[in-house]
Amino acid sequence: MGYRSLPPARRKQWIEDTLQALRPEGDRAPRRTPITQRNAGSTATRRAAQPALRPAAPRPPSADAVARLGVDAPVTALKRAPFALAVKFDKLGVRSVRDLLLLFPRRHADYGDPVPVSQLEFGREQTVRVQVWTAKERRMGFRMRATEATVGDATGMMRCVWFNQPWVAKQLPTNAEIVVSGRVSEHRGRPQFENPEWEPWSDDLLHTGRLVPVYPLTAGLQSRTVRRVMREALDRFVHLLPDTLPANTRSRLGLLPLAQAVAQMHYPADRAALDAARKRLAFDELLPIQLTMLLRRRMFQTTAPAEPAPISPAVERGFLASLPFTLTGAQERVLFDVLNDLRKPVPMSRLVEGDVGSGKTVIAAAALLAAAENGRQSVMMAPTEILAEQHFRTLKQLFSANGYGPLDGSALVATAEPPFLARPLRIALLTGSAKARDRKLLHDALERGEIDVACGTHALIQGEVRFHDLGVAVVDEQHRFGVMQRAALREKGSMAAHTPHMLVMTATPIPRTLALTIYGDLDVSVIDELPPGREPVETRWMGPDDRAEAEAFVREQVEQGRQAFIICPLVDESETLDVKSATAEYERLRTTVFPDLRLELLHGRMPPKQKDAVMRRFHAGEADILVSTSVIEVGIDVPNATVMLIEGADRFGLAQLHQFRGRVGRGAGKSWCLLLADDPGEEARARLELMERTTDGFRLAEADMEQRGPGQFFGTKQSGLPGLKVARLSDVKLIELTRSEAEHILDADPSLVAPEHAALNAQVRALLDSVVDEEH
Ligand code: ADP
Ligand code: MG
Repeated sequence: MGYRSLPPARRKQWIEDTLQALRPEGDRAPRRTPITQRNAGSTATRRAAQPALRPAAPRPPSADAVARLGVDAPVTALKRAPFALAVKFDKLGVRSVRDLLLLFPRRHADYGDPVPVSQLEFGREQTVRVQVWTAKERRMGFRMRATEATVGDATGMMRCVWFNQPWVAKQLPTNAEIVVSGRVSEHRGRPQFENPEWEPWSDDLLHTGRLVPVYPLTAGLQSRTVRRVMREALDRFVHLLPDTLPANTRSRLGLLPLAQAVAQMHYPADRAALDAARKRLAFDELLPIQLTMLLRRRMFQTTAPAEPAPISPAVERGFLASLPFTLTGAQERVLFDVLNDLRKPVPMSRLVEGDVGSGKTVIAAAALLAAAENGRQSVMMAPTEILAEQHFRTLKQLFSANGYGPLDGSALVATAEPPFLARPLRIALLTGSAKARDRKLLHDALERGEIDVACGTHALIQGEVRFHDLGVAVVDEQHRFGVMQRAALREKGSMAAHTPHMLVMTATPIPRTLALTIYGDLDVSVIDELPPGREPVETRWMGPDDRAEAEAFVREQVEQGRQAFIICPLVDESETLDVKSATAEYERLRTTVFPDLRLELLHGRMPPKQKDAVMRRFHAGEADILVSTSVIEVGIDVPNATVMLIEGADRFGLAQLHQFRGRVGRGAGKSWCLLLADDPGEEARARLELMERTTDGFRLAEADMEQRGPGQFFGTKQSGLPGLKVARLSDVKLIELTRSEAEHILDADPSLVAPEHAALNAQVRALLDSVVDEEH
């Protein structure tokens, strides 16, 4: 503070003092050493002549400090990384030599071994080892200066041009022996290189004639520079990287030693060496994740047993017979898994994965019923209030005396009398917007065990909520929650002597290997079949000129007795603005486009009662069109709705679009999804085209992960999965290998206390902590 009010000379002093203070102890130059003494050589002398003009750049660390710090030394420890370069590396997140060594190339250019000039082929990336015949600077057109060189070997000669790099000419004395790599182009029928990579011939090529690393760049940092600095870092420091992998694991699995893997990752001897390096480094990334997942699973499975909650055949049969449909084969299989888990004294920990509309709710309901039959409480947690309210209504229907009875969603507690159960059930709804008085009543009732089934949002896991005896907990649309929310729910139940059985459900179709990685603490069941009679939703991407057509189509469907959703575009991620634009759009549609139809508006800022009333009316067919913000993204189930019109579709991600589309096509008969997008960018265009082409959630998930990476796909909250730099989630074999190795390690050393596991232990702890931090 106050820096701005200092005169220039004092500012300079202030900066110097501050830099001094920031330097590690023992590494401090004596105060106020004249600049001339700090920098040897001619630059220093030149600087000394004008000391007031330049602030002193921090000195590189002393040799002592470097020896002490090893790979933790700042990059300025490298001769080739002066302060100015360190500033650029800093922008890439690279501060220490370790950071630098772990800055892996984005890819490698494969220039191959040198070939004779006579064997160059137009269009290929190739390398020649040649002598410089002539090299000169040339003007080429307006303001462009270039270097033009003629080079050759015993088999022929060729031209090389470096546009905008006139200085190269001075670096190419006649008869110099150089290596040149690039794509071969044609000049007057002869081969030539334009802007090729080049360097003087040596045994250890950096830029040419091999697999050459290509680094992620920031403004002002050239690949050539990074390669040179990296070479020095590798030569001087790579052997100092501590290898955290237990030697036993490494040798048994035939993985490269760390130093070798890192070196080969930058400058591989060949493709095979690069693959081996990548495998080792990917293994290092995945192993702690797998260990964390397995540890978590072992912890809750062994520390507290669960009370079995077996469902009786009579109750199961009665429940299934009361449904207005028969289960699909896939549902039956998954139901079997779930009910089987519930019979055991080990807490169930199962992920049910099924695409939108595959019928997960009824599986959850059966689990809740099993708890109730055993006189225990259960909860069903949803990510949004609207979905929680829908679950509340659905459960009331499923458990009521008349099967699918009339809807009455307003009260917070309902009593159902299922004919297939010997006792009535009290079902409650608990969300964040429950009034204080109601919330208190619900909390008390939950604690006294007067409520059997509680639906709700994460209000269910807040601090003051206590359960009398929680037997089963279901988390719907799990991808919207983090791992720790799951853990919090589990803990709620464990206040009693027993851990609750846990069932988590997701519509996000996750490839199985990925499920094992992210949800590695769970068993997985997949509902891979949709109920019969469902036709794929026909999807069309429409331009701004097609809006009238789209609206006419909505009208046509409504006139045939169907219902439609209209989703308003996201406005800058701000809910307030979303609400405003949705309200405006609703008014426009209501007054000018569909004045004769029944429209409803839904957004996140409405009081819960109102939201619930809107959903109830739409569900009951008392409204034709539901205009909504993205709040209805997950879970909403209105089988009579056949059109999903999404405005501003280019603003939504694939996962979200797929979820929206899943709101229709849930009954028999054909449904449509209309994607309106004014002027989509390239990526958005690819998304919309993919949506048109496929309704397969798995394919979309994979495509989305390719486009944006797994973190994006699952949302930022996703379960403490750290960013993976090397590992590819599509590498099934390696993921399985790390998993089995993690099991192996934990079998031998369940708490990772062996000295050779110290590093892994620390990594696992950090992962566990990071997940906790994320949630607080
Ligand atoms: P999701 O898996 O997306 O949560 P839901 O459980 O909401 O799907 O089910 C979607 C719709 O399909 C609901 O209307 C539900 O009643 C219906 N449904 C579920 N299972 C079947 C089935 N086996 N046959 C016919 N309809 C079913
Ligand atoms: Mg659902």
